[in-house]
Amino acid sequence: MISTYHPDETVVGKKKGRDLVKPVAVLDYNNTMGGVDLKDQKLSACLLERKRCVKWYMKIFKRLLNVSVLNAFILLTESISRRGKPELLHRSFREQLADSLVARHRRSSPQVNPGIDMEDLRLRRDLVHVPELTTGRGNRMNCRICARNGKDKKVHLKCATCDEAMCPGDCWRVWHSLQQLPGRDIKSRKGRRRH
Ligand SMILES: [Zn+2]
Ligand SMILES: [Zn+2]
Repeated sequence: MISTYHPDETVVGKKKGRDLVKPVAVLDYNNTMGGVDLKDQKLSACLLERKRCVKWYMKIFKRLLNVSVLNAFILLTESISRRGKPELLHRSFREQLADSLVARHRRSSPQVNPGIDMEDLRLRRDLVHVPELTTGRGNRMNCRICARNGKDKKVHLKCATCDEAMCPGDCWRVWHSLQQLPGRDIKSRKGRRRH
């Protein structure tokens, strides 16, 4: 037993009518596990932490975040019913929460940042830059950033939004964040029209 709340004391409880010494943590757990099960059941419809390939501490963080969202929803529901307002669905609550969080960071109009050419997809933050993996040896492409730096680097990753290949990590970050890209643009080495 590990608890951040209970002392290491024991109490005498009952098991099948007989007295049994138990840690207080166990007694509390038995009294409240119904609520834990109910919480698990409520969260099973909206698991944030199910995604594979994440570090264990990210899973725990997402779980705690998810539980906090649920707790907020429960408190809001109680307040709503006390004030006799119409019921709110768990799903609608999550959608509204997500919308309001995203709205804070959404650019209200394209004029906000005049330094960015709106034709230039790569720096746009209002779009999701979707990473896409190509399979097979023949499907590797030159990393756009490495190419600019004079390196010949073949990768399987591309940004589907920008339709450009790049290494994960640094090159991806550079491509999507630097207004002035490093090196020289040598995008279409193949098939470039000569004048
Ligand atoms: Zn690269
Ligand atoms: Zn992109």
